[in-house]
Amino acid sequence: MAETAADFNNLGIKAYDAKQFVDAIVNFERAYEGAPDSEVVRGNLCNAHQAAANELVAKANDFAAAAKHLEQAIGIDPKNPSPLVQLGAYYLRLDMIPDAIFRLEEAVELSPTNLDAHELLGQAYYEDNDLPSARAQWDYVLEMDQGRESLRKQYEKAFREESVEQDFHRSDSRHFRMSYPKGMTRQVQARILTFLERAYMNIGRKFGGVYPPGQVQVIAYSAEQFTEATQLESHVGALYDGKIRVPLTDGSGEDLAPDEMERRLMHEYTHVVVRFIAGEHVPWWLNEGLAETFSNELSEKDTTVLQRAYAEELDFSLSEIESSQLGVLSPEALGLAYAQAHATTNLLWTRFGQHRLGQLLSDLAVGTTAEEALRRNYKRTYLALEQEVADSFR
Ligand SMILES: [Zn+2]
Repeated sequence: MAETAADFNNLGIKAYDAKQFVDAIVNFERAYEGAPDSEVVRGNLCNAHQAAANELVAKANDFAAAAKHLEQAIGIDPKNPSPLVQLGAYYLRLDMIPDAIFRLEEAVELSPTNLDAHELLGQAYYEDNDLPSARAQWDYVLEMDQGRESLRKQYEKAFREESVEQDFHRSDSRHFRMSYPKGMTRQVQARILTFLERAYMNIGRKFGGVYPPGQVQVIAYSAEQFTEATQLESHVGALYDGKIRVPLTDGSGEDLAPDEMERRLMHEYTHVVVRFIAGEHVPWWLNEGLAETFSNELSEKDTTVLQRAYAEELDFSLSEIESSQLGVLSPEALGLAYAQAHATTNLLWTRFGQHRLGQLLSDLAVGTTAEEALRRNYKRTYLALEQEVADSFR
């Protein structure tokens, strides 16, 4: 029979070693009640919460539940920077930017040389559109560690954007924070924010009630500014890279028609929800296919392109679309890839609906490969699905 704090601590250690983290927490809590001044017990309880959080993310992609464990860990051991950094990263993943900033600033205060904390804090400032503060954090990290290649790329990207966006104004709605260039009328601002709020409602409902809690950053540009900031050509209609980036005008300087603007925003907002559900684990064809399916019908032109491609056997396989360097495709080939993604996802959506789609995304979220997740939820291999889609265009 466990009676003393030491007994419960030992039981906790046993459970922890067996990866029974919930059990470990229960035992360490009992130990902590009996020995509230023991640094060792406090450290163990804190570690068990961190391990439970790791496991919730790895096995169930449940960042919200994991964050609750970390809040507890911080309450128990407020001087320990490790759960603060971990929680900051999770809040970033949940797009809860003010919470991420709050926790990461605490972490940096406790541990001023922790480069991961500084890098994440820079990321949080960046996502909050505070580029000067992001620059200060990232300069420090890159000075201390030359080897952070992906940070260097992110840094260059951020300051290319900054040179375009420095004179932009801000306008917010309940779920969106928009930056826009001088000269954009109030009417256009209001229209875009209304489209976005409508997308928030309608797309969230299509996924069975998924509403990301944080405000989403949106940046509106002229066509030239869009190209300058993103280095993308004008056939790319808009972009989501953690922020929604959308041009207000087409290549010839004409304002986009309202229905075209709404379609693009619905498309990009679908990416916001997909990333919120499943992070970066979603194959290109499904991510773009959902964005297309939820923002517009397959057009006559798309149908013609698809009929011809299938007749001449010029279509891509799904694994090609999953892995190919989409950046190097010609605009025509890219158009075909989008049309195939659209047609394929449309078939899954119209025939099997919301529930299976939700299951598919949950499987992807925890790292199941795309074809395995498809097989599990739709009883189809890639090849079978490809043939089914092709047959519908013959
Ligand atoms: Zn897209």
